[in-house]
Amino acid sequence: YTGKSGTQLLAERIMKITVQQYQSIPVVVKDSSSVYDAICTMFLEDVGTLFVVDQASALVGVLSRKDLLRASIGKQMLETIPVSIIMTRMPNITFCFKEDLIIDVAKKLIEKQIDALPVVKSGEGLKYEVVGRITKTNITKAIVDLANDELL
Ligand code: ADP
Repeated sequence: YTGKSGTQLLAERIMKITVQQYQSIPVVVKDSSSVYDAICTMFLEDVGTLFVVDQASALVGVLSRKDLLRASIGKQMLETIPVSIIMTRMPNITFCFKEDLIIDVAKKLIEKQIDALPVVKSGEGLKYEVVGRITKTNITKAIVDLANDELL
């Protein structure tokens, strides 16, 4: 008998859950896409956050629901404004790797007050390639699995 408390055992379990186990498929748009097209993609793909990539598929930006709403309340032409004008851009993007712990992603989501992080892998030069998406919903799923004792 190890003498570990229930809380200690739970903490040990939490510290083993990685991004890879709970990440979702990322939805990306090109930096040349219009705000109008990004809004359509967000509805069609049923996600709250879009990731923006350049011609070489490198991560360059993030678009949230409110970014697109904000762009839509002006009198601008949504079909002609590229998303690169309104997105949150590198190097201000908070991201993670698939080997990272879910608990560290949860801390970043709280600290930055955001809903989702792109999961990336290192690409050419100092660029990152988007390989996944991790959201508050994915974190919630991990908590439910913990409670049900159904961790992978
Ligand atoms: P919403 O704006 O719809 O409430 P968020 O809270 O996720 O959604 O986004 C808040 C702001 O933070 C937006 O301007 C968005 O572009 C930005 N943002 C969202 N996710 C990230 C991220 N992973 N890294 C940096 N900025 C982000």
